[in-house]
Amino acid sequence: MSQAINQTASQSITVLGATGSVGTSTLDVIARHDQFRVYALSAHSNTALLLSQCLQFEPVYAVLTDENAAEALRLQLHKAGSATEVLWGVAALEKIASDAAVDVVMAAIVGAAGLRPALAAAQSGKKVLLANKESLVMAGELFMQAAVQSGAVILPIDSEHNAIFQCLPAPAQSKRGNLAGQGVRKVLLTASGGPFLHTPVDQLHTVTPAQACKHPNWDMGRKISVDSATMMNKGLEFIEACYLFDLAPAAVEVVIHPQSIVHSMVEYTDGSVLAQLGSPDMRVPIAHALAWPQRIESGADFLSLVKSPDLQFLAPDLARFPCLALGMEAAGQGGYVPTCLNAANEIAVAAFLAGQIRFTDIPRIISDTLAQITCRQPVSIAMIQKLDAEARAVACDIAAGL
Ligand code: NAD
Ligand code: MG
Repeated sequence: MSQAINQTASQSITVLGATGSVGTSTLDVIARHDQFRVYALSAHSNTALLLSQCLQFEPVYAVLTDENAAEALRLQLHKAGSATEVLWGVAALEKIASDAAVDVVMAAIVGAAGLRPALAAAQSGKKVLLANKESLVMAGELFMQAAVQSGAVILPIDSEHNAIFQCLPAPAQSKRGNLAGQGVRKVLLTASGGPFLHTPVDQLHTVTPAQACKHPNWDMGRKISVDSATMMNKGLEFIEACYLFDLAPAAVEVVIHPQSIVHSMVEYTDGSVLAQLGSPDMRVPIAHALAWPQRIESGADFLSLVKSPDLQFLAPDLARFPCLALGMEAAGQGGYVPTCLNAANEIAVAAFLAGQIRFTDIPRIISDTLAQITCRQPVSIAMIQKLDAEARAVACDIAAGL
């Protein structure tokens, strides 16, 4: 985070992961305002949606993961008279994240695949709207260092971190670090508790992917929905908060708030607690970050507190949610541990979604993977990617043996 950006000129935006839940919400907000031009869009495999987005937003570039899918999109766009150029692969993602013509990058690819393009944006001094929490979990130290060196502005899109950002003193919004010196005692990270907050613990081994993906308050992609059900999402967010705001783990507290109306809080040394509230709609943090330090309409419903359910706050039950405990421990250990935790979690969640393992196997795969890997501190992205691959291989073996 550094100086505010001049918002008067039109802003040129790349949306990485444009076809996903955060990506489509971002385009919804962008479409409501004239001040943004879409420079590039990316998707993994949903060419049909990317095609219609290209026809609506007329980006200079569209990027897909796979060469054949890119060729198919190229033909369809050509037929429709579109001038959008289609590229494919990781180098193309890095290009559209770092091009000199780009002012703002929305990093909304899911998982470790989002690291390299998000990092390219941070290294090239962009205003980075960071939804891809996995890049901070994998490489938080290097990512934040890159932003400081390039002068990139990192604005959190994760609703909790966006809420914390909004509740920070203004100087801390522009310059990372020294929160204690500005009177901040701790941050309170709220968590809904997901769909299994009250499910008897002895039934958790029977829950299905469809049940795990049915979040009570938020409509999200499948991976983050499972992460919310295990509460690994909050574990990842705990790590994300430490890196993003330069906080020691002791300065971050998780509070269960099942209604998802208070999106997080900041406690000050005088006893004041500032909270950010709003409808559970990702367009709110997206609009905040797009316009920061100004404000624009998001399209989300306005909050009616008198019509809202009673707001509850509870301590998390770490025995029910071992993934949260694993995330919090990894934040304390730092270094290579969060990288391996993230990799093992991605493998375990994919195996659960594919029906190969039980819900309760997820924390087991992660802790067994962490127990098998001992390592040196990663000092480069190449080392992090090697570690990520190693942890994935270990986690795959463990999952296959269950
Ligand atoms: P999603 O699954 O709905 O969409 C993911 C996007 O990434 C899609 O556009 C997909 O095409 C692209 N993608 C997937 N795999 C890819 C790969 N290997 N290479 C390139 N592109 C790939 O996910 P989402 O729910 O929108 O989440 C995106 C990110 O935002 C995640 O990191 C998530 O943790 C974070 N986030 C999401 C929400 C939410 O409400 N959905 C809230 C907070 C944070
Ligand atoms: Mg969140």
